[in-house]
Amino acid sequence: MKPFHCPNCTNLVHFDNETCLQCSFRLGYRPWANDMAAVGADGAVITQEPASPTAFFCDNVSHGVCNWMVEDNGEGTLCRACRHNVMIPNLSVDGNIEHWAAMERAKRYAFYSLLRWNLPLPLPSEEGRSLAFTFAADVEAPDGEVQKVMTGHDQGNITINLAEADDAERERMRLNMGEPYRTLVGHFRHELGHFFWDMLVDDGGKLDACRAIFGDERRDYGEALQEHYQNGAPAGWQNDYVSTYATSHPWEDFAETWAHYIHMTDGLETALSFGLRFDSRHLAAAGLEPAGANYDPYAAASATELVDRWVPVTIALNSINRSMGQHDIYPFVLSAAITQKLEFIHQLIHQRWNVTRTPSPVLAQNATQDNSTNMQSAGEQNFLSGV
Ligand SMILES: [Zn+2]
Ligand SMILES: [Zn+2]
Ligand SMILES: [Zn+2]
Repeated sequence: MKPFHCPNCTNLVHFDNETCLQCSFRLGYRPWANDMAAVGADGAVITQEPASPTAFFCDNVSHGVCNWMVEDNGEGTLCRACRHNVMIPNLSVDGNIEHWAAMERAKRYAFYSLLRWNLPLPLPSEEGRSLAFTFAADVEAPDGEVQKVMTGHDQGNITINLAEADDAERERMRLNMGEPYRTLVGHFRHELGHFFWDMLVDDGGKLDACRAIFGDERRDYGEALQEHYQNGAPAGWQNDYVSTYATSHPWEDFAETWAHYIHMTDGLETALSFGLRFDSRHLAAAGLEPAGANYDPYAAASATELVDRWVPVTIALNSINRSMGQHDIYPFVLSAAITQKLEFIHQLIHQRWNVTRTPSPVLAQNATQDNSTNMQSAGEQNFLSGV
């Protein structure tokens, strides 16, 4: 992600800052302009460029869970990220607002990338395939039985269990699952991968091409997951898969690889836009010049180029973490086979989409099948087994 500045005082500010620490003006991200606006006590909106159209804060800013602005064009009072919510947590329960805020923060980071690529984001109110978010917590019934919320994707509906926003709980799940990496933004990017598989692969007529790279997704999903949780990943999985969970089923491989492509692109934009420079020998070996100030990873020519630029960054970042006694920030290794999968994702994102919004009868059948298999993410097994 690129760095942002307060347009009132030019202070460097974070994407999710609600207030400028230097001049105390309120901050609002304008997704259509990809910049930050500052709002003074008198309500006047200050922007770097002349503000057009006029804008106001998203309704969810009043809950402290959003810092985005809304274009004043009659399309509602929620921002481009919040308008996809179909269920928010019960705000009368202690801790839920804080957990929801953490969820929305991660979701906005995920949306930043989708908006940079101008990917199709149909609203829940639209006909046909749409993208919707449900944030819900486990509920204990009067008889003591706990109704578990399963994190996952189903026909454009992304459900995330609120417990994932609890750092201690998420770390416990990470250790139980033996995962090197488990984050909220990772969950959003992964589940969005399932949505875009539906939208860009299935609706987009790319099933055969996708099967050639990721395998045949018609393999029984429930059985595949069960087998994965019983036997773990096959030996040598690192040669072909970005994570152990990616080995469970072609759908999960696609979602994990999709998430990874976004981690890589956004991480690279952050590193380069802060002026960081890394091991040029690696770039020279790949036949690449060091990236200049104008290099935009979101407009990269290929995934291979992104990987070649990203790998030296990860070595530096892991070294910094080790200096601070922290776990590696980037516990992944990208093989040639994984890069080929990333290339498929790259082409999918950068193509001109030709997708239909209304599911065909065949798609509707698949949809029923998806419902019955209940697509799940890495975290769900915890909720199912209660470990
Ligand atoms: Zn300021
Ligand atoms: Zn919002
Ligand atoms: Zn998944």
